[in-house]
Amino acid sequence: MKTMKKILFILTAIIMCTHVSAQDGRISSQGYAVFSKDGGFQPYEFTRHAVGEHDILIRTLYCGICHSDIHQARSDWREETYPIVPGHEIVGEVVQVGSGVTRFKVGDIAGVGCMVNACRHCEYCENDQEQYCMEGRVLTYSDKDLYHDNEITRGGYSTNMVVDESFAIRVPKDAPLEKVGPLMCAGITTWSPIMQCGIKAGDKVGVAGFGGLGHMAVQYLVSLGAEVTVFDITEEKRADALRLGAKRYVNVTREEEMQGLDNTLRFILSTIPASYDPMMYINILKVGGTLAVVGMPAVKDAPQINITALQNRYLTTSIIGGIKETQEVVDYSVAHGIYPETVVIPADASAIDKAYRDVVDGKVKFRYVIDLKTIKTEKQ
Ligand code: NDP
Ligand code: ZN
Repeated sequence: MKTMKKILFILTAIIMCTHVSAQDGRISSQGYAVFSKDGGFQPYEFTRHAVGEHDILIRTLYCGICHSDIHQARSDWREETYPIVPGHEIVGEVVQVGSGVTRFKVGDIAGVGCMVNACRHCEYCENDQEQYCMEGRVLTYSDKDLYHDNEITRGGYSTNMVVDESFAIRVPKDAPLEKVGPLMCAGITTWSPIMQCGIKAGDKVGVAGFGGLGHMAVQYLVSLGAEVTVFDITEEKRADALRLGAKRYVNVTREEEMQGLDNTLRFILSTIPASYDPMMYINILKVGGTLAVVGMPAVKDAPQINITALQNRYLTTSIIGGIKETQEVVDYSVAHGIYPETVVIPADASAIDKAYRDVVDGKVKFRYVIDLKTIKTEKQ
C-alpha cells in the first residue's frame, strides 16, 4: 500500500512538472479569473489545448496588467462571458516545443501579446497585419479559438501558455524580464501608429493620457527625436513626464495651461481610457496633422466627434500591431533600453484586485506586472 502511494505520488509529480494532463495531452494550468463584472479575482484551474506540431509551451514568468484587462473584466465594451482569465502582456520560458518548431528551443524566452492566431492567408495577414485578419483572428483571452474546437482562450494571469510559434515573440535572455511583458501590448500599440504616421526628429507631437501606454509612447517619441507634449489630468505625473524626456506637461484640468496650444502639433496619440472631448486635441493639431486614438473607453464613455469640424486634420484609430511589428518593437526597445516603469506584485487574487483599483484611480506609475513565479500551487 505504502509503495502504491509512493508510485502514485511520483506519477502525480511528473504530471504536474510537465503540466500535461492525462486527457488528450491537454495542459493543466492554474491562474486567476473573474467570474462576474463586479466580482474580484479568484484562483482558477483549467486546461489548455495540447502542444501541437508548431506550438510552444511557455511557463509564464511575468504578465502585465493592461487597462484593457480591466475594461474587459468589467464588461465595459460588451457583456462578456465569464469566467475570464485576462492577461496579454506575457513573458515566459519555453519548456516544451512541438516537433515542427524552428524558432524556439527549450530554455528560450518568449513573449505573447494580444493575439494567439489568425488565418495567415487573407489580405491583412499576408501584409503582416494579423490584428485585422478577416477570417479568424484569435485574441489571447476570452475569444473563441477557431483552430481548437472554438474553446475559449485564457490569458496570462496563469502558470503557462500554449501558442503557435508564429505568434510568439523572441526575447533575449538578458533583457529585464519583469519589464518585457508590457512591450507586447503597451509597447506595440503605441509604436505602431507612431510608425504609421512617420514621426521623425524635430516633429512637434503630443501624448494624451500618461499611463501604461502613454509613458511608452513618450519614450519612443523622445528616442526618435520628436518634441513631446504630454497631456494628463493630474499634477502627480508632471515630473515623471519631464524626466522621461517630454518638453512640456499640460494638466488639462488647468485652463491656463491650455492657452496658446491650438494649431501647434503635427501628431497626437490619445491613450485616454475614460470620457473626454477629442475635439480639444483636434484643435491642437496643425492642418494636415493626425489624432491617432488607441485608448478604448467603455462604450458609455465613447468619445464623440463632429466630423465636419476636422478641417483637414486626420483622425485614425489603431489596434495593437502585427506580429512582425511586435518583434520589431521588442528588438528596438531592447536595443535602446526602452522599458516600462513597473511595479511587480505577487500572483495573488487580492493583490490583483488592488492593482485594478489603483489603475482606475490613477495610482500606479506606470505598469503593474504579476510575478507568476510566486503563484501558490496546491503542493505548497
Ligand atoms: P492607464 O490607466 O495605465 O493610463 C491611462 C492614462 O490616461 C492615465 O494616466 C490617466 O490618468 C489618463 N487619463 C484619464 N482620463 C484622462 C483625460 N480625460 N485626459 C487625459 N488623460 C487622462 O491605461 P493604459 O495605458 O493601460 O490603457 C489606456 C487605454 O488604451 C485603455 O482604454 C486600453 O483599453 C486601451 N488600449 C488599447 C489598445 C489598442 O490596441 N488600441 C491596446 C491596449 C490598450 P490617471 O492615471 O491620473 O487616472
Ligand atoms: Zn493591453
